[in-house]
Amino acid sequence: MTKESDVDRVYIFDTTLRDGEQSPGFHLDANSKLKIARQLEKLGVDVIEAGFPISSPGDFQACRQIAREIHGATVTALNVQYSPEDASRADIDYLVETVETMIAAGANVINLPDTTGYSLPLEFGEMVRRVITDARGSEKALFSVHCHNDLGLATANSLSAIAAGARRVECTINGIGERAGNTSLEEIVMLLRVRQAQLGLECGIDTTQITSTSRLVAELTGNPVQPNKAVVGANAFAHASGIHQDGILKDRLNYEIMKPEDVGLDDSRIVLTARSGRHAFHYRLSLLGIKLADGKSEAAWQRFLQLADTKREVNDDDLRKIADGESNGNGHATAVDAPNEHNHVADTLRHMIFG
Ligand code: MN
Repeated sequence: MTKESDVDRVYIFDTTLRDGEQSPGFHLDANSKLKIARQLEKLGVDVIEAGFPISSPGDFQACRQIAREIHGATVTALNVQYSPEDASRADIDYLVETVETMIAAGANVINLPDTTGYSLPLEFGEMVRRVITDARGSEKALFSVHCHNDLGLATANSLSAIAAGARRVECTINGIGERAGNTSLEEIVMLLRVRQAQLGLECGIDTTQITSTSRLVAELTGNPVQPNKAVVGANAFAHASGIHQDGILKDRLNYEIMKPEDVGLDDSRIVLTARSGRHAFHYRLSLLGIKLADGKSEAAWQRFLQLADTKREVNDDDLRKIADGESNGNGHATAVDAPNEHNHVADTLRHMIFG
């Protein structure tokens, strides 16, 4: 099923439909599982773990249907490979011995899990390295890892295992899974891509499908993604502070290490809040086709600041009203129009800090 000789390739094993789906509150019916499997095929994962067929008749049916329909990825189910549960806490010599025995018996994929999310990256990488170095016949097998995120280290542990010679990562969309979840597919994939020059590895994922896959999984499981989640969170490409907005508008590489379009997003979001700067304010107005008349922009900026202090985010409608207040030309400044001493001081400070 895999090309073990292709050492520069990391294979992506997706377990969203098995480990991800078995977490409390994430149940998927057969139809939803099939929809996600089709999207995973589009995303380009190498292996889809479709479920745990022995667990229920419904899951058995779902796995069978997915296996029949999906041809662009290998479809598997729990218990097809050798995977010593809780490997990271096992005696290393005993682990090496069992891996050797399984390879001698014909196993060509050895999956080493950090079942409890206990390992440290250096430890986990060292365990993988020891097994690959010491187990006789290891060159005949593909080494895979399955990490959990109980200490927030699933992606770091997977990376450490890759550095030690593992060439397959088990992961899930949005990092869903038992307890604190699994290694996030989007994190490990974008990490390989963004740092490709240093790591020298690639995978077969079409990264432009990441956002739509993430959204589909969130929608069908009924579990939204936390806004600050790496790569797929709503804020992952949003900029609110003035200095960052100014930097992004001048050159996106100033504050973005990857492009939003690389993960299938249209663009970065320049969010207008009370921490935003003038550059972002005028940029957002320009997106609405609004150009303030000469001499009007200062008062408009003051109106923006007053409003921004009362809201979480200033939206397009607010911007139109701010601009209308400027352009009605009646000459009667309202209270909100009038810049006052307090605003002037606040603005000066803001300008000094945020640009
Ligand atoms: Mn697991």
